[in-house]
Amino acid sequence: EAQDTRVGFALVGIGKLTAEELIPAARTSEHAYVAALVSGEADKAQGFARALGLTEQDAYTYEQFDELADREDVQAVYIVTPNSLHREYATRAARLGKHVLCEKPLGVNAEDAQAIVDACREAGVLLMTAYRCQYTPEHWAARDAVQDGMLGDLRLLHSIHAQVEDDPDAWRLKRELAGGGPLPDVGIYSLNTLRFLTGQEPEWVFATQHQPGGDPRFQEVEASMSALLGFPGGVSATIQTSYAAHRTGTLRVMGEQGSLHMDPAFPYDGLKLSLSDNDGTRQPSFPDYDQFTLEFDHFARCIRRGDTPWTPGEEGVQDHVIMDALYESARTGQVVRL
Ligand code: NDP
Repeated sequence: EAQDTRVGFALVGIGKLTAEELIPAARTSEHAYVAALVSGEADKAQGFARALGLTEQDAYTYEQFDELADREDVQAVYIVTPNSLHREYATRAARLGKHVLCEKPLGVNAEDAQAIVDACREAGVLLMTAYRCQYTPEHWAARDAVQDGMLGDLRLLHSIHAQVEDDPDAWRLKRELAGGGPLPDVGIYSLNTLRFLTGQEPEWVFATQHQPGGDPRFQEVEASMSALLGFPGGVSATIQTSYAAHRTGTLRVMGEQGSLHMDPAFPYDGLKLSLSDNDGTRQPSFPDYDQFTLEFDHFARCIRRGDTPWTPGEEGVQDHVIMDALYESARTGQVVRL
């Protein structure tokens, strides 16, 4: 029976991402399946459980979370709650001996994210930060172009990731739940992808942010941030992010011999990559895929083999270290060295 060899996941938090992306993605996964659901709303969890062919016993409330300890078929927990709750459920899952797949951003700051890494290490379970773009063929082709020298020596990096958040009551606009504004939610993709493509870490950052006082949406978090990051060898990056600018996800890497452009760079599908050098511009095409299926399959294979995932918890921490520095720079008006 195929089901016996697949890795059972408990999904924690049944919001938009879980309902619209993760549950459908798990259905087409070769190596993972949804074995249990955890939610603040028992009725909702039971409804989703039934639709998946599971039973009422597979639906848990947050209060019942620790009962997952008895579920041998649940080997991994996928945390899909607001950001500030990642730590609590990741830590509890680790203590139950469950491997942890955690949505981005890993926590609300570097210290918070590090606590998740520490808890998983202590418990001897695997931890993966759900950086879906790093599992796509487009991002890997871009990385190969950079790493194989097609662009020559790197000079300039650029990325914008923005979208409009129009509900003033959204948890994404509450500092206590989100940890910040567009930076940790969407700007993180720009930061993370430039690190992934170059394999380099910024040495210093400088940032400005805008928080319009009169807008009810931005009472607690920034509306926009613009940042300059210094990478080794004089390579510099500009990153911009906003919750008040029309949906944009773009990325450029410019070397002396060539450049690459991804636009859109970060959606669930339809990514477009252009590679240019002195011979012209190519737009390679790639087979269809579901990013969340690729993630489920990757983590499930890591669990089976005992391998460290490609995007472990430490990657999530490193992005928080840099984001903490960006906020410090925006607050102080100073360059912050890393
Ligand atoms: P939603 O608001 O749609 O869902 C979050 C769910 O978390 C809620 O439905 C609720 O589920 C649960 N929850 C528990 N406590 C709270 C609380 N105090 N306030 C609000 N919800 C609560 O968010 P998303 O699904 O969009 O995002 C969830 C996580 O996934 C975030 O960390 C986000 O950054 C990440 N994300 C990642 C994406 C990606 O592309 N990788 C895309 C979108 C989000 P219940 O009622 O079942 O308890």
